[in-house]
Formats: sequence, structure tokens, C-alpha cells
Amino acid sequence: MIKKADDRGYIHVYTGNGKGKTTAALGLAFRAMGRGKRSYIAQFMKGQEYGEVRAAAMVPSYITIEQFGEKEPCHTCEAPTDESIKLAQRGIKTAHNAMLSGNFDIIILDEINVAHYYHLVTTQDILDFMNRKPYATELILTGRYAADEVVLAADLVSDMVEIKHYFNKGILARDGIER
Ligand code: ATP
Ligand code: MG
Repeated sequence: MIKKADDRGYIHVYTGNGKGKTTAALGLAFRAMGRGKRSYIAQFMKGQEYGEVRAAAMVPSYITIEQFGEKEPCHTCEAPTDESIKLAQRGIKTAHNAMLSGNFDIIILDEINVAHYYHLVTTQDILDFMNRKPYATELILTGRYAADEVVLAADLVSDMVEIKHYFNKGILARDGIER
């Protein structure tokens, strides 16, 4: 049976190894802007300048992006650094306040699944966040390795499957395409 849409907001998860998780979330914020909706985006584990951060600065009344990752993440560290944990925890709190502020229709936690995978946030942190979603808010969680509990609690889950990626031919992230 097809239900008529009311003002209920749903929880999406974009996960998997293929390209398109963050861009799908950003595309949704762009589409929503066309309907006058405002998005708050917290980027976990990202501290460098991305094209979307510049783009959001061009439409500040519709899209807000804040980053909660180290500028230069430690690639050789075996355990997460105290700083990366502190930043991710601050990200969860700040996004939570944004979600309850009434100022945003859409909340995007970009790479939150990866932050969970690296033990910067707990499964309970994410489930609590999902449980506190106001009725009409749309919540999007992105990143590889989504936890089973998170997938179970979501309303919509897309798994980006990598069929081919030029990364495997040595093509690293390009400005305006991957970052
Ligand atoms: P996009 O931001 O383009 O939508 P995504 O959010 O789906 O991509 P992420 O997992 O967040 O993808 O990260 C992609 C980044 O990781 C890219 O900058 C890419 O260069 C790099 N990367 C490393 N390995 C891979 C891989 N096997 N497949 C895709 N990207 C990879
Ligand atoms: Mg991504």
C-alpha cells in the first residue's frame, strides 16, 4: 500500500565501498535548498578544505557545514588520537544541538560510520542521536562500514557497490570531483 506522505522525516544511511555516499547526501541538501529547506552538515574525520565547504559558504542561509576532523590526520597511528576522539565527540554534540535548534530541516552526519569504525564515537552515540531525531527532521548518515545496529534502526539504507573505481588505477581525489 502506498502511503500519502505527511511531514514525517526519515533516517537514511549511505554506506558501501563505491563512490557516491557523500555526494548523494550533498545532492539531497542541494535539492532541499530548492524547496526552501535548510541543511546542517557535520563532517567527521575531515579537516581539509572540500569543494562543498566553499559551496556552502555561497548559500549560507540554506547549507551549513562544520568539520570535526584533524587537519592532518595521523595515517600511521594504530590507535585513534585523543584529538580525533575529542573532535568527533564535539561533532556529535554540535550536530545534536543543531538538530534540536529548530533551524534545520535536514541533518547530515557525513562519515559518521567511519568515525564509528575507528572508535571515535560509540554505537550508542549514534543510536541515541537517531532516537532524538524530531519527527519532521530528515537525518542522513554516511560512510563505509555502517554498523548493523545503525542499519537496523534506519528507514532507508543504500549500499554503494564498487564495480570499478579509478582510485585502483592510482587516480587520487580530485578537486571538485572527490573533494
Ligand atoms: P564521494 O565523496 O565522491 O561521494 P564517497 O563518500 O562515496 O565519495 P568515501 O568512502 O567517503 O566515498 O571516500 C572516498 C575517498 O576515498 C576518495 O577521495 C577516494 O579517492 C578515496 N578512496 C580510497 N579507496 C577507495 C576505493 N576503493 N573506492 C573509492 N574511493 C576510494
Ligand atoms: Mg564520503
